[in-house]
Amino acid sequence: MPRDRFEVTVEVSFAASHQLRGYKADLEPLHGHNFRVEAFVDAETLPEAGYVIDFLELETILQEVVAPYDHRHMNDIAPFDAINPTTENMARFFYQELEKKLPEGASLARIRVWEAPTYGASFSRR
Ligand SMILES: [Zn+2]
Repeated sequence: MPRDRFEVTVEVSFAASHQLRGYKADLEPLHGHNFRVEAFVDAETLPEAGYVIDFLELETILQEVVAPYDHRHMNDIAPFDAINPTTENMARFFYQELEKKLPEGASLARIRVWEAPTYGASFSRR
């Protein structure tokens, strides 16, 4: 039996450098990306108001999550001083951080991080 599901998306971006450790057994050369981060929030039913979450509210808290990394070297900032700043690890970390900040009742379905227009990674917990 198919179930109804609404999914809303907000995207923010930030510019940062990173350098993967253990990349082909070495430290990757330092380089930067214009990262794009998409948050997907879903619901099976719509509240009375007719929307899953306010786009502006979602955008604001997603911006707060990525702000510490904007125009910075990701390897210098926790948790990426300890874990590799891969697109996959960013997706999982941003998921965990955004989930803590979402309003009551909002369900975070997925985070997707793009490090280039055609290179992206997603994290979800379902
Ligand atoms: Zn890179």
